[in-house]
Amino acid sequence: MRAYKVQNASREKRVGVTAKSLDDLISKGREKLQIPEGEKVTVVIEDDGTVVDSDSFFKKLPSQTVFVFLCKGEQWKGAGDLIYEALSRLHNTARRAELADQIRELMTDENAPEKISIMSQYLEMLEMDIDSEERYEDEDWFEGLNKKYKTKSEVMRHSAQQRIRSYYVSAKEQIQREADGDTKELLLDLLEEINNELKSNDFHGSYFDRQAAARQRLCDKKGWFQCQGAFDRDTCDKLHTINPYASKGYRQLFGLWNLDHIIEKSREVIPTVIEAARTKPKYAELNWQEAYRLLFTKDNLKLVQVGCHKKAARVENTVKTKDFLVT
Ligand SMILES: [Zn+2]
Repeated sequence: MRAYKVQNASREKRVGVTAKSLDDLISKGREKLQIPEGEKVTVVIEDDGTVVDSDSFFKKLPSQTVFVFLCKGEQWKGAGDLIYEALSRLHNTARRAELADQIRELMTDENAPEKISIMSQYLEMLEMDIDSEERYEDEDWFEGLNKKYKTKSEVMRHSAQQRIRSYYVSAKEQIQREADGDTKELLLDLLEEINNELKSNDFHGSYFDRQAAARQRLCDKKGWFQCQGAFDRDTCDKLHTINPYASKGYRQLFGLWNLDHIIEKSREVIPTVIEAARTKPKYAELNWQEAYRLLFTKDNLKLVQVGCHKKAARVENTVKTKDFLVT
């Protein structure tokens, strides 16, 4: 039996309970929070509002997790959402000081050391000049970078392009190594198509460029990036956030953020593409667009802070050879 905490939606009551299953948690939590038997209860995680509706999911959660019991008509925004909202309002610089005060206040209430360190990082970033863009406005930011870069966005574009190029190069190397004969010929043609498409998309430099169109970038227009959570989760429950445009230090720290493939590149996508080329019937064509989508687009890429970057083995066979064939 493990120990957890339960609270109600108004945050008025938070009590400790031990439970061996989700049903057990619900029945004990009900009692402690004095929720009548007949009332339907939805259990969510306090941090990010994720609904807990199966015992198997419940059992994966660590002890001391805080659960919120929602009754009919009640809603819960996770603590993370509240902070994201506060951050997104920072574009309104007049409210910056006020928000910084609110966050400071939150910090004094919060005991978890991890959250305190994340919040103090936010505060530090808030107090920096994130808006300046040109080299002459913020020389420190550019320290150690090639003189050819005149703006922060150019530097960030280049950094996104480098990552995308490295995925292309490693895909090519793997194909050179693992395919042979006619299969290799077919795949080299496919790589050619992919390379042309990458060129026409400027190697997706826009992913890190705060001046790019909204749907092409991963940050907001001020340069704030939010961790998208591990490949097997929908969100980041650690509230990882960074603005590499804020300072040289944060620019360098951003180097530790990974662009992860949700469906793994070298163990799933590439081997399946190779297999598709090897077993392709005469009348079928290789679907390079699908390979491109999985290797280089936001559909299958996630930006994650190193803490959410998991190298663990993944669920295999989520792509099939037929995905890469068109008839
Ligand atoms: Zn994260």
